[in-house]
Amino acid sequence: LPNPVLAISGLSYSIGNRALFDGLELTLSQGESASILGPSGSGKSTLLSLILGLFPMDSGVVRLDDESIADMSISALARLRARAIGMVFQFGELLPELSPQDNVALAAMLAGGDAAEAQSRASDLLKRLGVPDSPTVETLSGGERQRVAVARALINKPLLLLADEPTGALDEENRDKVADLLFSLPSEQGCALLVVTHDRSVASRADRVLTIAQGSLQVAAESEQGQ
Ligand code: ADP
Ligand code: ADP
Repeated sequence: LPNPVLAISGLSYSIGNRALFDGLELTLSQGESASILGPSGSGKSTLLSLILGLFPMDSGVVRLDDESIADMSISALARLRARAIGMVFQFGELLPELSPQDNVALAAMLAGGDAAEAQSRASDLLKRLGVPDSPTVETLSGGERQRVAVARALINKPLLLLADEPTGALDEENRDKVADLLFSLPSEQGCALLVVTHDRSVASRADRVLTIAQGSLQVAAESEQGQ
């Protein structure tokens, strides 16, 4: 088996005297998807922030592509994030005045890619994801914008794709299209995918559906996984 892309062991993190995570474990390999289903305030965003190393955990180890993030310098961690992780957010977080292609190409250029090559890869990827050309992303539908956000997360061929409520701002039809796209990626691109969401119908598409309970991740009950 390949080394896990993400390996979390013994992760503990408290806010004030509330233990949000207490010995949490999670391992995710290339080609695998997992979702974390839970209501607002259960700690889903905080877990993603800890995986990204945005603030320190109280104890435990997070390994990304076999490197312990706590042992890395800020600049080495930033390089690892740029190389190995793609992020998709609830509201896309695109640059509104730029075209879809420039939004996507910029992510490749910020990771050190050549500008002309970035543009051509961005154009190819957007075509594959069925996003129309447009002078700015503002004129695209919500579902199209979210596909631009997925393209931007994919442009650097990440090992790990993290999605925080990726369909939270979409209507049902676009939600299903974006979920189809996201959950096709582990087998098609060989990345690992971790989706956090409060939407059962989205979460249930993952190989593993987990919830945060007593500070750790547990397999979600069927009733939570069902439509
Ligand atoms: P979710 O993503 O599941 O909605 P969050 O990770 O955003 O949950 O939040 C988990 C808990 O941490 C919530 O109780 C929230 O109020 C608290 N929290 C989030 N951010 C902060 C912060 N910056 N300072 C203090 N508490 C926070
Ligand atoms: P969401 O709407 O996705 O739940 P929020 O609006 O709660 O996200 O954003 C707050 C973010 O800030 C969360 O990701 C939370 O984890 C993070 N955060 C920043 N500082 C802290 C902190 N000191 N403790 C807990 N969470 C923090």
